Amino acid sequence: ELNRRESLMIVSGYATKFFQESMWDTDEGKAIGLSYFKERGFTAETMRKFELGYSPDQWEAFTGRALQEGYQQEFLVESGLSVKRDNGTLYDRYRGRVMFPIHSFTGRVIAFGGRTLKSDKSVPKYVNSPESEIYHKSNVLYGLFFAKKAIRDEDNCYLVEGYADVLSVHQAGIENVVASSGTSLTVEQIRLIGRLTKNITILYDGDAAGIKASLRGLDLILEEGLNVKVVSFPNGDDPDSYVRKVGTNAFKTHIAENRKDFILYKTDILLKDAGNDPIKRAEVIREVVESIAKIPDSIKASVFIKECSYIMHIDERALLSELNKMKLAKA
Ligand code: ATP
Ligand code: MN
Ligand code: MN
Ligand code: MN
Repeated sequence: ELNRRESLMIVSGYATKFFQESMWDTDEGKAIGLSYFKERGFTAETMRKFELGYSPDQWEAFTGRALQEGYQQEFLVESGLSVKRDNGTLYDRYRGRVMFPIHSFTGRVIAFGGRTLKSDKSVPKYVNSPESEIYHKSNVLYGLFFAKKAIRDEDNCYLVEGYADVLSVHQAGIENVVASSGTSLTVEQIRLIGRLTKNITILYDGDAAGIKASLRGLDLILEEGLNVKVVSFPNGDDPDSYVRKVGTNAFKTHIAENRKDFILYKTDILLKDAGNDPIKRAEVIREVVESIAKIPDSIKASVFIKECSYIMHIDERALLSELNKMKLAKA
């Protein structure tokens, strides 16, 4: 219902201001939150633009203030900002965390991600808002509100994994960047991008496990008819750490020189894994052709067949007949 949604957005806006004030205007916030963001290299301009903040390290700092101001329990709980105890009283979900507000397509705050400042492995690194009437995480991309104009202008969207990656890449002047924020990419998220551009460039973290796990998910982008390119980073780096390490220009050069079409990238990785084992190589061929079969544009698909036949040393006709078999099986 419209009024409930509006109430949730109003309380989220209030919380955004509260977390900002807590960071910029209190001793605790300045010493802990603000200095953390500064150490990570974020400028005041970036922090203001993305409305970053800090949640005081107390049980009821936010909730107490919000109740005093007349915000209703119902909306505090539904938004996830407050959590209900068994005895019915409320406490703050976010305590002693730096806060990343998550904006809707039109720029209203609809949820939060809060990062712990402790290195203690027993606390989750990020706490995110639960699903609510205004926040369906599968329909949201972090940073999209700040990126949409640049995505159209550049006719390309960079996709990264995390909040800090969006901030650092944006701050480096590459503003067409969004994050899926930990969840694997959904069809809804791809369609959001697809309304702005048909080109996605993936900048995922440089850890082998993460890359292999993401390969299958990326087929979804092909199915939606978008073009996917992938850039990998040195092991252990993510776009945030890498751009801070090498600077904006070298970062751009790295992207330009390492940008690879997804199908060819996937073929390379799988082939390396398979080594000389003929059974594994046959499996790779099947998997790659499976991805190509998802490309709706048949001319594009045939170009990939040609390129893959070359890098896999397989007769083009063999790949084509495999492709046609798969398409028949799907039809
Ligand atoms: P940082 O640079 O601050 O350490 P990151 O963004 O590099 O963070 P990753 O571990 O690479 O962190 O995770 C990528 C994204 O996945 C995060 O930005 C966050 O959105 C999400 N995420 C990570 N850990 C968790 C968690 N424990 N709970 C919920 N979401 C998480
Ligand atoms: Mn990671
Ligand atoms: Mn990181
Ligand atoms: Mn990361």
